[in-house]
Parts: sequence; C-alpha cells; structure tokens
Amino acid sequence: MKVLVINCGSSSLKYQLIDMTNEESLAQGLVERIGIEGSILTQKVEGREKYIVKEPMNDHKVAISIVLNTLVNKESGVISSMDEINAVGHRVVHGGENYSKSVIIDETVMKELEECSKLAPLHNPPNIIGINACKELMPQTPMVVVFDTAFHQTMPQKAYMYALPYELYKENKIRKYGFHGTSHKYVSAVAAECMNKDLKDIKMITCHLGNGASIAAINEGVCVDTSMGFTPLAGIVMGTRCGDIDPAIVTYLIKEVGYSVEETNNILNKKSGVLGLSGVSSDFRDIENAVGEGSERAVLALDVFNYRVKQTIGSYAASINGLDCLVFTAGLGENSPETRQSICDGLQFLGVKIDKEKNNVRGKVTEISSADSKVKVFLIPTNEELMIARDTKELLNK
Ligand code: AMP
Repeated sequence: MKVLVINCGSSSLKYQLIDMTNEESLAQGLVERIGIEGSILTQKVEGREKYIVKEPMNDHKVAISIVLNTLVNKESGVISSMDEINAVGHRVVHGGENYSKSVIIDETVMKELEECSKLAPLHNPPNIIGINACKELMPQTPMVVVFDTAFHQTMPQKAYMYALPYELYKENKIRKYGFHGTSHKYVSAVAAECMNKDLKDIKMITCHLGNGASIAAINEGVCVDTSMGFTPLAGIVMGTRCGDIDPAIVTYLIKEVGYSVEETNNILNKKSGVLGLSGVSSDFRDIENAVGEGSERAVLALDVFNYRVKQTIGSYAASINGLDCLVFTAGLGENSPETRQSICDGLQFLGVKIDKEKNNVRGKVTEISSADSKVKVFLIPTNEELMIARDTKELLNK
C-alpha cells in the first residue's frame, strides 16, 4: 500500500509518499508560496538531485495537481500512475473533543472539521482546503485525517480543565487540548521499542523541542498531561511564542500600554519566545552562535528556555509519580547536545544522568543516558509523516 501524506498550511504544503509495505519514503516535497508570486515546489528522492518546479500556483488545488504530476511524470516521478496511490493521510491540527483517534474522511467528519475551525482559525481552514482539493483531484481514493490533538484526549479532567467559570468549558469549549500529538505518539512508541518494554509499563516524558515546542507526560500507555493548551501558544518558551505567562499581562498590554488586540496577539505569537528575549533570532543555531560572541541576552534566552523545560519535566514527573524514560525530539531536541545537557543538569534528583560522549550526537535514535542512569534518556528523531501513514494504513485495513 502506498500512502500520500499531506500537511497543508495557509501558503505551504508538505507531502511525502510512503510505501507501507516496508515504510520506505519514496519521495518528499515542499510547496511554498501558494497563492503568492514565486510559487515553488521542491521534491527530494533518495539518491537523486533535488527536483524543482517553479510555476504559478494560485491555490491549493493547483499546487496538489502539480504535486501529483511531479510524483508520476517521467523525469521526477517515483510511480507510474496516480492509481498507485492507495490512500491519502491528512494532518489536521484540531480535532476538538470529538476525536481521540484518526478517522476515515466522510461528510460528517468534514462538517465537524469545519466546526473545529473556530478553535484553530489559523490552522484548520488550510487543512480543510487541502482535503477538499485532494478529494476533487482523487475522488476515488480513500482519505484519513490524523489530528494533532488526538493523542492528548486521554488527559484526565483535572489536567485539561482551566480554573475558569465552568460554563466557558461547556459553552465555549475552552480547555486544554494540546498539540504535536502525532510526534509525541511516534517517539513514545519508538522509545518503548528501544527499551524492549510495553509502553503501558513505562513512565515517560517526551520533549518535542522545535520552533514550536511542547512536552507530554505519558503513563500506562496514554498521555496524561501536555504543555500546550487551548492553543499552541501555551506551555514552554518557543522560537517566537511566549508560552505560559501571567494572563493579566494581556489586559495590561491592551489597557495600559496601548496595544490593539491584533498587536498584542502578534507580540505573543510572533515577537516573543527566544526571539523576543535574545533580540537575535528565533533559530537556536543563531542564538548559540550569539552566545559564542558574548551576547548576554542570547545567554538569557537559552537560560529561560532550558529552565522552563526542566521545570516542566520536574512537574510532570510529579504528575506521573516517577520517571523511567525521557525523550528529546524535533529540530532542537534532535540536534543540540548543549540543550539536552543543560536541561538534564539538575534533573539528577530524578535519576537522570547523561553520558557526555553518547550525547554528542545529532539526528539518529540514540540512548544518551549513562549506564548507571535510573532514567533512560533517548534522542529520537520524530517522523510525523510515517505516523500519519501508519494510522491511515491501519484504518483502511480494518
Ligand atoms: P523544527 O520546528 O522541529 O523544524 O525545528 C526547527 C528548529 O530547530 C530551528 O529553529 C532551530 O532552532 C533548531 N535547530 C535545528 N538544527 C539545530 C542545530 N544543529 N543546533 C541547534 N538548533 C537547531
């Protein structure tokens, strides 16, 4: 079975074609600047030069038709016809409270996705546009949606409720949802395999540290808490997002400092995080370089980031009453030995001990804890596309 995985943003689209007989990635690509001048598709296939298409792509339907053509044409293709694509797996950010698992797309699902758009106005609408475009271009191909929120739906009420008037939960669905679920689910399954144990028998904390960042606590095989909240703005410090702050700061910025609602939203989402603290960049590589050049604010940004991650790990160990396994993943978690070391320094009380040499690694599954560490610590590259393809295959094989 070959599964096409689609992750549609407002002006970009990532795709990957995966052969599920052996989980081999046949092609992966990125379309950028959809609906903007300068649309470009870049496709990578193992052992080949990058293939680039520069053509106007006024909407997602045009972009997806160019993706399909790129996958089948003689020059760049990896399959001989579109009939070889047995299914499409779509990433959707918000599934609300209705979806704790991936589902096969039908009319009811499409209606509920529209409903959830209220909860994720920036993310769900482009996801839906991508699904509709695929349905038009491949009407006979079964499609599945995989939600970023689904893995976290097992959280107990005490973890997902905010201490706000209860009616705001009942009537407006204001609660913690959590995001990056596909990534947390994938790396937790790989970590359990590495430990040769059933996930149900492991107390685990997974740290997805990329431009967006979140942490999940997993106990008895399910997620029991996570750091992102009603929106992906909550939790730990991120590239440009502030993470948890005193909520009164929001009204203070509007009423006392004089920012508009839009400006405030922009500050919290786009101008905060390590970018706001350092004044250098949202990219941790730039910040690490700036630290080397003596920037005190860059040092501060990393200190605040690492401290918040460490604090969250500590509190989640309390949530699950212990810790057997700690996992680092995503851009920063996979590639920065310094970040992993700084976060783990001070977690010795939990039984976390990093082996400096083993930790000096990037981007491959590695146990980085020392032999006498009570907690196993792993670096596990995430693979959300594969997780989406696995769910798609499983659902369609049922
Ligand atoms: P992601 O959102 O998972 O793609 O992660 C992207 C982020 O990972 C970038 O913004 C960088 O901050 C970080 N990153 C990627 N490679 C490195 C590296 N070699 N060292 C430090 N940070 C890195």
